[in-house]
Amino acid sequence: MNLFNFFGKKTFSHGIHPEGFKEETHDHQTRRLPFAEQLTLPLSQSVGKPPIPIVHIGQQVQRGELIAKANGFMSVPLHASVSGTIKKIDLVPNAATGDKEKAIIINTALSSPQTSIQGTYQEFEQLSRDELIQSVQDIGLVGLGGAAFPAHVKMNTPKDHHVHTLIVNGCECEPFMTTDHRIMLEQIEYLFRGMGIIMKAVGAKKAIIGIEDNKLNVIEAIKPHLPKDGHITIEAVATKYPQGAGKMLVYSLMGIEIPSGHRSTSIGVIIYNVATLASLGELFPYRQGMIERVITITGDNLNKPGNYLVPIGTPLSHILKYAEFTGNEAELILGGPMMGIPAGFLNTPVKKSTGTVLVLDKRSSKDSDISPCIKCSMCLQACPINLNPSELGLLATKRKYDVMEDQYHLKDCFECGCCSYVCPSNIPLVQYFRIAKTLNRERYKQEET
Ligand code: SF4
Ligand code: SF4
Repeated sequence: MNLFNFFGKKTFSHGIHPEGFKEETHDHQTRRLPFAEQLTLPLSQSVGKPPIPIVHIGQQVQRGELIAKANGFMSVPLHASVSGTIKKIDLVPNAATGDKEKAIIINTALSSPQTSIQGTYQEFEQLSRDELIQSVQDIGLVGLGGAAFPAHVKMNTPKDHHVHTLIVNGCECEPFMTTDHRIMLEQIEYLFRGMGIIMKAVGAKKAIIGIEDNKLNVIEAIKPHLPKDGHITIEAVATKYPQGAGKMLVYSLMGIEIPSGHRSTSIGVIIYNVATLASLGELFPYRQGMIERVITITGDNLNKPGNYLVPIGTPLSHILKYAEFTGNEAELILGGPMMGIPAGFLNTPVKKSTGTVLVLDKRSSKDSDISPCIKCSMCLQACPINLNPSELGLLATKRKYDVMEDQYHLKDCFECGCCSYVCPSNIPLVQYFRIAKTLNRERYKQEET
């Protein structure tokens, strides 16, 4: 059964209403960022196995050329995002884990064009499901909403799951982010083609585009493109965080819960983010590799915040230069303030999954002191999947990670950060949960070997 907010908009229970901070960038047309002198392309750009390099040091490559081939089905290939010379294949710091990861480093050619290598033209309507999946893998597309799950793997839905509906996720509920907002205004044709490809591959007969009601101009822009037969519709849902999480969006739009531990396809629904679909629609016809994406560059002390089309592998230092960062020190976040990860180094490159670079003035982002839990239950009221973050937090401090999972459903936590956001004691609950989940995963791996 659907739930409605005070204004009659479809919604989900719990969640939070953080300030949006989107005005700074949502009205700016997307601009292209010039090439940096050197681009660093980590091999691992998605969930799954990293691809295998097929280039050598000193080799000249063209923009769009395949430089690392997929290593099996659960792997995405990598393409050169600039023309130039392979300088190194080396270990570089990984912003998310702090470990080192292998990357291909390209020195940009002065003459590097903005156009990229194209393959032979293909119509998606003529291809079989397997051919569509293979083509999407060849493009090297990953989920651009942040999850970085290989787009082709998601298309390979289980045979016993009858998918009837594609949910197009245009919520973009995290503060500061406006990438999807701009894509929905500027890339409508690509977006609809991407939807067609996915609907054909999974057999979905219907699509619903879900948008938060803080982007009503998008609805007006898209409405004239909707097919007359009504098999694709668009709906505004309540603006509330984390409305863009798959479970929340499906519940808001359809009034159906995805059962714990199950994929959305188990209830006949597949969810794709608008940026992923638009990128698919753009790259598919000429089999082009994914080499760039729209990124919101926003936050403190920037003369030119906005949305930029950025080649994958561009270092943050280059982005700050073009967005005209005027401060001395800043905390850099890859992603939004709720689910983003801090980038410790200025030479950290943007990846396919990087949708936002958030610049926060260090003086305004100082950590507040942590106090003991006062049992106020605000975290329970905020958690959109009805976990008990307070109890989970206490267990984390006692390192009872197995109890967190076995009795308190830690696995269901999707790290939205609502609990940390509302906690008056400033307990970094979501960080505790991330650590606990990582340690549990490592424990399972050790038990398996
Ligand atoms: S981070 Fe996890 S526990 Fe906290 S509110 Fe989100 S889903 Fe619930
Ligand atoms: S919000 Fe913070 S202080 Fe309140 S119950 Fe949850 S953990 Fe405790």
